[in-house]
Amino acid sequence: DFETSIKIVVVGNGGVGKSSMIQRYCKGIFTQEYKKTIGVDFLEKQIIVGTQNIHLMLWDTAGQEEFDAITKAYYRGAQICILVFSTVDRESFEAIEGWKQKVEEEVGSIITVIVQNKIDLIDEAVVQIQEAEALSQKLQLRFYRISVKDNLNVNEVFRYLAEKYITE
Ligand code: GDP
Ligand code: MG
Repeated sequence: DFETSIKIVVVGNGGVGKSSMIQRYCKGIFTQEYKKTIGVDFLEKQIIVGTQNIHLMLWDTAGQEEFDAITKAYYRGAQICILVFSTVDRESFEAIEGWKQKVEEEVGSIITVIVQNKIDLIDEAVVQIQEAEALSQKLQLRFYRISVKDNLNVNEVFRYLAEKYITE
């Protein structure tokens, strides 16, 4: 049996929902409770794409986004990057390009998507849809709007990435 293993890093400002996204996808759970550290390096998930069994390893930065030295160790060896910002956090949107650069400095150009989380809070949005689309066009990256809370579009992001990885 042939199995492909992929390391995925989920990056973005604190509070955008990175840990929630990983927990939702790997364990099927969501909690409103804010846990700054999850205490594990990564969670795993098996996904079947075509005839291939793919082993995804989802790395989380354990709430230490502000410590450069630590996050760089997390990026090492990653094949896929998910850049996350929040619908209700303007700064997190403006930080996306910087996060992309940070990851690239460590691992070069890898498969990457931009994710706008907390789309359930669209009534309180501080980022316009057109702005987010313009950024994804500029960076030439696929753009997803998701809600980890409502379990909207989360699986689609990972499926797209796994498919893209095996067809490249
Ligand atoms: P991280 O710092 O990026 O890892 O963010 P967390 O995963 O810890 O989430 C920060 C907060 O946002 C928590 O209180 C989550 O419950 C909440 N959260 C995460 N995803 C969503 C979402 O899709 N909608 C809403 N309304 N809240 C969310
Ligand atoms: Mg976190």
